[in-house]
Amino acid sequence: MNKKSDTVNSELRDKLFIVLALTGCISNIAGFTANAVIFGFTPQTLFCAACALVIIVSSLVGFFTGRTYVATFIILLVLGFVEFPMLYISYGASTAVYMLVAEIGIITFMKPVHRVIMGAAVFVADIAAFVVRSKFPHLNMANDNMELDTLFSFVIAFIGIMVAVAIVIVQFERQAKQLSEMGEELTLAVNTDPLTDIRNRRYLIEYLENQLSQDEKKKHCAALIDLDLFKSVNDTYGHVFGDNVLKHFANAVKTNIGENDLIARFGGEEFMILFDTDNIEAVMTVMKRIRKSYSEFSEKEKGKEFTFSAGVAVYGSSNSITEIFTTADKRLYKAKAAGRNMIMID
Ligand code: GH3
Ligand code: MG
Ligand code: MG
Repeated sequence: MNKKSDTVNSELRDKLFIVLALTGCISNIAGFTANAVIFGFTPQTLFCAACALVIIVSSLVGFFTGRTYVATFIILLVLGFVEFPMLYISYGASTAVYMLVAEIGIITFMKPVHRVIMGAAVFVADIAAFVVRSKFPHLNMANDNMELDTLFSFVIAFIGIMVAVAIVIVQFERQAKQLSEMGEELTLAVNTDPLTDIRNRRYLIEYLENQLSQDEKKKHCAALIDLDLFKSVNDTYGHVFGDNVLKHFANAVKTNIGENDLIARFGGEEFMILFDTDNIEAVMTVMKRIRKSYSEFSEKEKGKEFTFSAGVAVYGSSNSITEIFTTADKRLYKAKAAGRNMIMID
């Protein structure tokens, strides 16, 4: 499970890296070009060029080496810690929004621990930029031509963040769905007998508890079945064949009971059927059909008749689970004592 979620997380980080690399490269190239056109090759323009270069190289190295997270880290550090505070000092208020974008980027792209450390570091750099700008206003070189450039870079950054957030949401929903499917599989596995693929004793008890708590007037039948002389089946034909017999028997029951009846493996070579009816005749009809199917199977496989014994208890909501099991077990014992291959109803 951990491996699976690790793979999902690294897939997500790779997708996010592509978004960040594209956004970072496009907006930096555009920023540098605009700077060069508006201000010429000033120190700020060269600084933008240097940042753009680091981001482009990091993006390419990350892309080609697969070390996307390190590249993500470097890009966000350059943007948030160095470039955006410097832009703010040089060009003023309209670029303050980049600082916010950088923090959103850090929250979106970084792993939790790095998110906190880097988020705090960038925040400190932003505060420093505010202080420097207010103390040294002569560093400000903004002019009116910058609005379009700022708007363009902002739109690119905004689209990048939105795409990244959409990817995270889709991934989150996929993981939530996976988790709920895994929960369902787990519940099924916990309630299923792996050999015969029918319900196990745990599920049977839960089912009975639920049925009895409904406090209905309706009565039901529980049939406890024990395969006769099964030890000698194993001893004669081997354990693997014994396993196949158990599977076949479970199938024979499944195909003969009604959709509102329940079959469960009680343990070993014992099964319990909960019939949705207290009509003994109907129950006996089904039990005889199962007996026929079981003996036909063994005749065909080994030329011998395999049999089972059963004890049937009628129950309602006034009975406890212990009472039901005890009554069915006593009758089963009677059937064994009377020579096996019998279904006892009292
Ligand atoms: P009886 O008619 O009195 O019930 O005789 P029996 O031989 O069926 O009774 P016993 O309780 O002595 O033996 C039950 C056997 O069922 C022994 C055990 O090895 C076998 N058994 C229990 N679970 C499995 C299983 O999962 N696979 C196989 N092959 N055999 C199993
Ligand atoms: Mg037994
Ligand atoms: Mg037995």
